[in-house]
Amino acid sequence: MRKRFIAGNWKMNNGPSATVTFMDKFATALKSSNEIISNINGGKMNVAVFAPSISLCSAVKARGDAPVIVGGENVHWEKSGAFTGEISVPMLKEVGCTHVIIGHSERRHIFRETDEELHKKILAALDGGLTPVLCTGELLEEREAGKAFDVIKNQLLADLKDLDPQTVADKIIIAYEPVWAIGTGKTASKEDAEEVCKFIRKLLGDTFGEGTAAKVLILYGGSVKPENTADILSQTDIDGVLVGGASLKPDSFLAIAKAAVR
Ligand code: PEP
Repeated sequence: MRKRFIAGNWKMNNGPSATVTFMDKFATALKSSNEIISNINGGKMNVAVFAPSISLCSAVKARGDAPVIVGGENVHWEKSGAFTGEISVPMLKEVGCTHVIIGHSERRHIFRETDEELHKKILAALDGGLTPVLCTGELLEEREAGKAFDVIKNQLLADLKDLDPQTVADKIIIAYEPVWAIGTGKTASKEDAEEVCKFIRKLLGDTFGEGTAAKVLILYGGSVKPENTADILSQTDIDGVLVGGASLKPDSFLAIAKAAVR
């Protein structure tokens, strides 16, 4: 059975003091939820928060001994150098991150990151020992034009180019996030989300082998909230959720984690 992965993406929200306020409350509530803790300790689930770079130290410090993964929202592919405003894999590692989001649709579409760049970021993250959470997803006009599967296939094949099957199986998490469902309140139906996640697993099977496809965690993201989490997670090929807005408040993010308990 694949682990559930419940992740919050804070985007450009929660500076250092808001992060401490969040973590104090969230970590305490998490530790007193026997069902979540036994799922985490039993290897059935992970809970993660992806925070702005400036809040990462605070997040790691404030989580204390609570089992909350802390990750970066983005990373550069070089280890150091003249890249004003960027952060590197060794920097994320140094503050205690183990994971990093790569290729969020806001990075792809607002900041025009290309698949070639995302591929370099994935290689750098893997090389430095961070687990990439690679986002993929189609725009509304691409879905309406019947191109969703082609878009996702092109993104994933370019971003994961030349990786060996074992690495993909053990070290890559994929998040399917239809761009039209992010921050809009429009959730993909569980059937639509499952259809694409199943397609992604089949693509991984055709490319890296069935064994790899069976192991890779595939998340859904796009207007996930406490009320729709269990429904989304009832689908065979959806192993977790990547949550934006509803991860900003400890109560709603905790309710999402509770809805994911098995
Ligand atoms: C996201 O930021 O990845 C996301 C899915 O946002 P929201 O849950 O707010 O739609």
